[in-house]
Formats: sequence, structure tokens, C-alpha cells
Amino acid sequence: RLTVNAERLAQGESLAPFPAGRDELGLLAERLQNTSLLLAARAAEARSASQAKSQFLSRTSHELRTPLNAILGFAELLELDLQQGPHAAHVGHILAAGRHLLGLIDEVLDIARIESGEMKLEVAPLALAPLAQELRELIEPLAKQHSITVHVGDSLNGLAMLADRRRLRQVLLNLVSNAVKYNRAGGEVHLDAERQGERVALTVRDTGMGIAPALLARLFTPFDRLDAEQGPVQGTGLGLAVSRQLALCMGGDIEAHSELGQGSRFT
Ligand code: ADP
Repeated sequence: RLTVNAERLAQGESLAPFPAGRDELGLLAERLQNTSLLLAARAAEARSASQAKSQFLSRTSHELRTPLNAILGFAELLELDLQQGPHAAHVGHILAAGRHLLGLIDEVLDIARIESGEMKLEVAPLALAPLAQELRELIEPLAKQHSITVHVGDSLNGLAMLADRRRLRQVLLNLVSNAVKYNRAGGEVHLDAERQGERVALTVRDTGMGIAPALLARLFTPFDRLDAEQGPVQGTGLGLAVSRQLALCMGGDIEAHSELGQGSRFT
């Protein structure tokens, strides 16, 4: 019974009752019991420290957004005034860096909100075809820039799912923009859906460079850009981490399959 309890302790589970006694086994059982109480207290401390960190991050990110929006707003006004010349290029850099920073702050804020349990979702029945149309319009400029064709499958027509519209759009936009960014010039992106019993599987497939099997396990780790850090594609390494957490919050999940040189598929 002591062995079983020692194993439960290692798994972080509560201990089974053990008859008290003053012999060696009894003393050992008492020590195990004390250790288990100590561990429980430490775990509670760690949870509350993590909660405090998430709340701090969430508040700080919120405070950073307000002045940054002012910077971006005035830079946009300057951009209108300065059509050309060196100052126009400088303003362009301010805007590009500011927008990158705003994206980063928003993603950190999302992660902190999810971790501290403050992410509020409005889950409602949602038709997929109109959402896909909206996505197509949002992604068009980026797709054009990379000479990528985005195909939305007929499979989405007539399908609906329960989701928070804004957040599902964010997840899909993340997946589709990755599929465009990490593609090859002239490549393709396909968005499809399939009903699987009570659930709907949405798939974003690309004809890009793919992801090496050894890197696949790190895909959803915050700030991990795999081997894209040295490449020309801009990013924060937060998009997939946030997307997966959002999918989990809505009762779903995200899985990735990839073949190096062939492309990737996110479901
Ligand atoms: P990022 O801001 O870097 O795009 P993500 O969290 O969206 O961050 O993605 C993490 C990393 O996963 C990317 O930096 C890239 O290396 C890789 N990745 C994501 N999507 C794809 C894809 N469709 N094809 C190839 N690599 C991808």
C-alpha cells in the first residue's frame, strides 16, 4: 500500500488512507502524507503565481494599446500629408513597426486572457459560407502580394457550427495567412469543411514548403517560429499558439499534418 501511495504522490494524486502505526511503516506513511500536503500547497502557490502573471500581462497589454493606437493614428495622418520624399518613407517605417507591435500586443493579450480564464466567448450558431467569403476578402491583398490563389470549397455551403464568430474568424485568418505566407510564389491555398457526425472539421491546406517532422511538435509553442526566424517572412510566433487555445476554448482543437516540400494541412 505504501508503494501504491508513493506512486500516487509521484503522479500528483491524493493518497489512499493508511492505517496509523508507530512502527517503521507507520512512520513512513506519515512522512508520505506530510509530503503530499506540502506538494499540494506548493501547487496552489504555483497556480496563483501563474494567475497573477497572466493578470499582470493582460493589464499591461491593455495599457500599451491606448498610446500605441494614438501613435498609429497620427502616423496615418502624417502619411496622408507626406506623399513622397524621405519623410514619407520614415512614416512608412513607423506605421509598419507600430502595426507589428500592435499585433504582438493583441496576441500576448489573448494568451494572457485565456490563461487567466478571462477570455469571454459568445458562442452561437454560425453559417460557414458567409464567414469564408469575408475571409477571402480579408486575405486577398496578402494573397495577391504573394501570387497565391485562395480556393474556398463548395463543401462549406449550407454548413453551420457553434462558435464565437470573431474568434473563429481570427483562427481561420491566422491559418489562411500562414498558408499564404509560407507558400511558394504561384501556390494555392484551399479552405474546406467536412461534417463529421455532430462536429465540423475545417481544413486549410497549402502547397508551401511544409514543416520538417522534427519541428512539428514545436508548432503550437508561443514565440517559437521554428526555422522561419532566419527567413524573410515576418511573424511573432504567437498566431498558432493563440489559435489552438481559442479552438480549445470553443470545444474544438487544431491538428497539423505536413510533408516537407509538399505543403501543410491544418484541421
Ligand atoms: P508566425 O507569426 O511566425 O507566423 P505562427 O504561430 O503562426 O507564427 O507559426 C509558427 C511557425 O510555424 C511559423 O513561424 C512557421 O515557421 C511555421 N508555420 C506555420 N504555418 C505554416 C505553414 N502553413 N507552412 C509552413 N510553416 C508554417
